[in-house]
Amino acid sequence: MAKKSEITIAGAGPSGLAAAIILAKAGYHVLVFEQRSRVGERFNDDYQGLENWSRDEDVIDEIRAAGIELSWWSQPYCGGVLYDPSLRRVEIRSPQPLFYMLRRGSMHPQSLDLALYDQAINARVEIIFNRRIDPKAANIVACGPRGIPTAIAAGITFRTSFDDLACAILNDDMAPAGYVYFLVSEGQATLATVLFERFTEVQECMRRSMETIQRLYRVEYDNARHWGGYGSFSIPTTCERDGVLWIGEAAGFQDALFGFGIRNALVSAKLAAQSIIEERSYDELWRDRLLPHLKATAVSRAVYKKVGNVAKRGFWYLTGKNARPDRFMHWLYNFSPAHKLIYPFVTEAI
Ligand SMILES: Cc1cc2nc3c(=O)[nH]c(=O)nc-3n(C[C@H](O)[C@H](O)[C@H](O)COP(=O)(O)OP(=O)(O)OC[C@H]3O[C@@H](n4cnc5c(N)ncnc54)[C@H](O)[C@@H]3O)c2cc1C
Repeated sequence: MAKKSEITIAGAGPSGLAAAIILAKAGYHVLVFEQRSRVGERFNDDYQGLENWSRDEDVIDEIRAAGIELSWWSQPYCGGVLYDPSLRRVEIRSPQPLFYMLRRGSMHPQSLDLALYDQAINARVEIIFNRRIDPKAANIVACGPRGIPTAIAAGITFRTSFDDLACAILNDDMAPAGYVYFLVSEGQATLATVLFERFTEVQECMRRSMETIQRLYRVEYDNARHWGGYGSFSIPTTCERDGVLWIGEAAGFQDALFGFGIRNALVSAKLAAQSIIEERSYDELWRDRLLPHLKATAVSRAVYKKVGNVAKRGFWYLTGKNARPDRFMHWLYNFSPAHKLIYPFVTEAI
């Protein structure tokens, strides 16, 4: 790719902002177009998790090494509570953080979105709001999910006096082929269901999830804000089309197994910036760093879907009754010989 001093980015989500920050720090003039009126408007002051199991390197170190500061509110979680399809409970404990909880949206000043926005402004990135641009007119496309959804979510956020907690439920009546998550920190709660199939049942699934969490934890949903969202996963053949680089969920860089797309978004941003700065092939960079994980989660998803409750009970057992759940998660997200054997038969998740 020819070296440019001006870079245009479509989309001010985590991937677009991270690419903008890294490039601006490297001396480029960066212009970001965002179709909405603020960053983070796609989200709802909800808690999300930045996964820390797919690599040996801690995700925070990886992000910092890319030139992004950890300026958002973040809380490490070494475990939580997991329920199997029969609502059997197990406590997961890992010697190191399994994920870092963070906030999304445009409401909390230390949300991931607003923190990245501040870093971008400090790095002299120019951000134009309320402007949707044609991806072909950009150098980097960071427009988020597109095409047919792989997963959809419905959720609520609300204030609570409940103690801090991270909990997930694997049950098809509440979350077909997916999971329910209930996250509480500092008096704020997020409860959501993520469906990987039977999308038309989402409202009913949400109702059942609310009832179950109320029964299990006796929470009250006072002044709950309801919201929804979706994600899309694919394994691209190229992410450099006519010299335009595709990053984050726009490129299909999601997690096919559970939908943890933030790490992929930030890492792909770093790789796109690196390819511009060092004049290297972006396709080579993302294939080397991200492709094995994309393939592994596609296989894990296909198996998870195929064997239904057996997979859920197996996952429950192998994370909950295991002294190193982080190692098991690491295995699921990396392209092992077992994944390699199954991969040629995997088409559904791609
Ligand atoms: C309910 C929900 C819960 C989730 N929970 C987790 C979680 O716990 N952990 C995790 O890792 N991931 C989670 N994810 C996924 C994660 O949020 C995404 O993978 C991540 O936000 C992708 O970042 P991105 O920058 O690629 O895209 P986005 O965050 O979607 O940002 C894209 C931006 O581009 C803008 N845009 C789109 N088209 C244009 C255009 N043509 N011109 C200008 N602007 C445009 C959009 O308005 C948006 O602001 C969740 C997703 C959902 C929906």
